[in-house]
Amino acid sequence: MSASAAVTRHEIFQTSLITALAQGVYEDEMTLAELLGHGSFGIGTFNELDGEMVILGGTCYRLRSDGSVSVPDLSERTPYAVVTNFVPTISRPVAGPVTRQEFSAFVDGLVPSSNYMYALRVTGRFAWASARTVERQERPYKPMVEATDGEAVVRREDFTGTIAGFRTPLYESGISVAGCHAHVIDDERGWGGHLVDFVLEEGTVELCLGTDFRLRLPLTEAFGAADLSEDMSEEIKQVEHH
Ligand SMILES: [Zn+2]
Repeated sequence: MSASAAVTRHEIFQTSLITALAQGVYEDEMTLAELLGHGSFGIGTFNELDGEMVILGGTCYRLRSDGSVSVPDLSERTPYAVVTNFVPTISRPVAGPVTRQEFSAFVDGLVPSSNYMYALRVTGRFAWASARTVERQERPYKPMVEATDGEAVVRREDFTGTIAGFRTPLYESGISVAGCHAHVIDDERGWGGHLVDFVLEEGTVELCLGTDFRLRLPLTEAFGAADLSEDMSEEIKQVEHH
């Protein structure tokens, strides 16, 4: 990509680190009200790891392990989230059916450079999709690889919905989930979770190029005391990409 004048700078905001989450730092002071001030689109989780987060159009949804979907109070808090104000820089129709692997290759071909961050939004009709949902944890917190062990993968057939996620360069691993990290929610706002696999029948893929990254670190005792010197990339891969 040339340093084209057509590209405007765009910020992605993140609170805490995926490494801290992987180490079991499941609480912070960041409220949803504050988070939404940094972006109307995004993904993350909630304090105590109580559900997967999807933010679309400024509305935050909580997808719990009991299968419920709710809109939590804005005073609820998050230990990890990534948000932006989604402005599509690239938009393409997708004529399916396409598998996750095919879709991933399609997106790879769309991005002008893999050296930037991208927010990813896919709206459309799915033949099926499968998702996992973190379960609320109790203190003392176990590392995420243990906390998510044995999590059920739930599959939903034939529905319309939205994938929200981020495509992150490898150089950000440790800070964010390198590669693609996406959550899914159906149009009825009745089902969703951390996206595992899918077949998209038809839809639209939109990408929002991120040039600026703002990282907010928690000021909690747990974050300060956590051992973040370890390379957690294998654990993060296991938790986020299995
Ligand atoms: Zn996730």
